[in-house]
Amino acid sequence: MLISIVVPCFNEEAVIDRFHEHLLVELLTIEHEFEFVYVDDGSKDDTLSILKRLAGTDTWVRYVSFSRNFGKEAAMFAGLRNASGDAVIIMDADLQHPPELVGLMVELREAGHDQVIAKRTQDGDRVTRTWMVRGYYRLVNRLVDVELVDGVGDFRLLSRRAVNAVLQLTEYNRFSKGLFAWVGFPSVTFEYRNAVREEGQSKWTFSQLLNYGADGVISFNNKPLRAAVYLDLSLLSVAVLYAVWIVGRVLVDGVDTPGYATLLVVMTALAGVQMIMVGVIGEYIGRVYYEVKRRPHYLVQSTNVAQRADVKDLVR
Ligand code: UDP
Ligand code: MG
Repeated sequence: MLISIVVPCFNEEAVIDRFHEHLLVELLTIEHEFEFVYVDDGSKDDTLSILKRLAGTDTWVRYVSFSRNFGKEAAMFAGLRNASGDAVIIMDADLQHPPELVGLMVELREAGHDQVIAKRTQDGDRVTRTWMVRGYYRLVNRLVDVELVDGVGDFRLLSRRAVNAVLQLTEYNRFSKGLFAWVGFPSVTFEYRNAVREEGQSKWTFSQLLNYGADGVISFNNKPLRAAVYLDLSLLSVAVLYAVWIVGRVLVDGVDTPGYATLLVVMTALAGVQMIMVGVIGEYIGRVYYEVKRRPHYLVQSTNVAQRADVKDLVR
């Protein structure tokens, strides 16, 4: 079995060397062939030159370097495309995904699982985070078709057929958590303790996390649109009841209803609801807009991987 390790790297000069060494130590204990596929996601620091150096000394190191920062999703996609292994393991460069687990993952693959999923435990998380995340997942799982699990991320092993399946999902707005779950195949999950980032810093800001959360809801189906329709219907029935009541009162008591406040409240409330609906529709149209442009997910500026025909046009 050839095992590919796919590693997206964005400004990771401080940890790459250490990551590489740690992993080599682990891989040498495994009786399989392996290769590294490092994807430099447009780093501003020395990441690329480190990768080139590693590729110069180790023949099993491949690297793909982007022309600018395209984001981790694009980097993982490129890594999967350029990996030739019978099994592919996706790992972060910052050593938060313990290299010691690689052996276990390979064993579970040998036992026949197509996806070996590492689930981080909540140890060391702040209580507020745990609560927020729990609420979020409860909401999201009600809204999307696939089952998303807290603590389950991109750290996983995929068999060749699972990789090929993921590569068939070429959408532009990639939400890997959902894509992996959508693919299915026999999967197994095991827990691990998350390590703190060794060096450098997390690239996530709070607003990015918020957007990521919104992506999770919207990129998987049209249930928010459906919810909008139901909300509109219920509002409409309330309005009809109210109208009947007013007309009835006029018929019974005669005309005299100064309804300035009521009018204003109803108008602003409805305007608010409509704005939200338009926003939801806009989200979907924005996604459609990006998809129909059919732009490549990333542009490669340098690589030592012999490019397949379908990838070649991205390299130029
Ligand atoms: N990463 C990337 N492109 C980006 C942001 C991050 O390739 O635009 C990589 C990063 O180098 C790391 C992994 O994705 O290997 C996870 O990033 P990070 O540690 O910042 O995320 P966290 O662990 O905080 O979720
Ligand atoms: Mg990290």
